[in-house]
Amino acid sequence: QAKAMGRNAYSFFTKEMNIVMTRRFEIEGQLHGALERNEFEVYYQPQLNVKDGSIMGAEALLRWRNPMLGNVTPDEFIPIAEQTGLIVPIGKYVIEQSLSFLSEWQTASQQDYMIAVNLSPRQFRDNDLIEFIKKALSDTNINPDHLEFEITEGVLMIGKSYIDEALLELHKLGIKLSMDDFGTGYSSLSYLRQYAFDVLKIDRSFINGITLKKEDCDLVKATIAMAHSLGLVVVAEGVEMREQLTLLEDLGCDYVQGYYFSKPIPARELLEFKHTKNS
Ligand code: C2E
Ligand code: MG
Ligand code: MG
Ligand code: MG
Repeated sequence: QAKAMGRNAYSFFTKEMNIVMTRRFEIEGQLHGALERNEFEVYYQPQLNVKDGSIMGAEALLRWRNPMLGNVTPDEFIPIAEQTGLIVPIGKYVIEQSLSFLSEWQTASQQDYMIAVNLSPRQFRDNDLIEFIKKALSDTNINPDHLEFEITEGVLMIGKSYIDEALLELHKLGIKLSMDDFGTGYSSLSYLRQYAFDVLKIDRSFINGITLKKEDCDLVKATIAMAHSLGLVVVAEGVEMREQLTLLEDLGCDYVQGYYFSKPIPARELLEFKHTKNS
């Protein structure tokens, strides 16, 4: 009987594995050439000032629509793009698109908006990264301090000197550095100081429970105080309700981002988003 169970368990395991592997294989296959086929679009989610509700900037979030697979979420394709190295050209496309959009947005609105772009660990292994960013900035005439890169603690955990050097280079150029998803990894205060971060983004999972659980509220409160004492500004991710916004304002949070204000939207919609606010 044990033998039979073992065999069943084994065949069940391979079946599940097959589904996962097939999906992965399909995604990887379609990911090759997706750039050339123009299947990506950068969406933007506004980040707002808590004090007056004005727009401070936006985070660039990549969308992929493939004829065979339909819409694939970043949580599914970004890890595969990372593992295959395809994130290097894809990430460059995001940087290019974001800066050219920012230039258009600033001109149209006559406002000093910021753009925040996510950077994956693998992108740091690209020797050309810094030169590429410099060129993209000068091509679009964007002031480096209007560009922000969001990285997660995972990037710092790798502990490679080329990462330290790249982060230092970005800092020297005047580009802002933001710690994404704070609180989900091995958050370390020493990292924030050591790498001269400018922004701390509190992960959505803490904002979720902020009005319901005292522990979450206390944690967010302490995080904001700590970030401020280190000279960082704080962005709360995943704000979905007015009550969360009110509480975050009381706790001294600087900026907010979330479905309560807007989902990530295409460039032209963000241009209009601002327009309606002004008129
Ligand atoms: P992230 O950088 O932490 O981005 C925030 C995610 O939270 C986005 O998911 C956004 O759509 C979602 N979000 C924002 N507000 C709310 C809210 O109020 N409620 C809920 N439930 N969700 C909210 P998205 O766009 O699916 O991206 C997922 C992750 O994929 C990102 O997490 C980021 O790590 C990665 N990613 C997306 N675009 C890029 C990219 O261009 N390059 C790299 N390297 N990673 C990217
Ligand atoms: Mg992010
Ligand atoms: Mg995040
Ligand atoms: Mg995330």
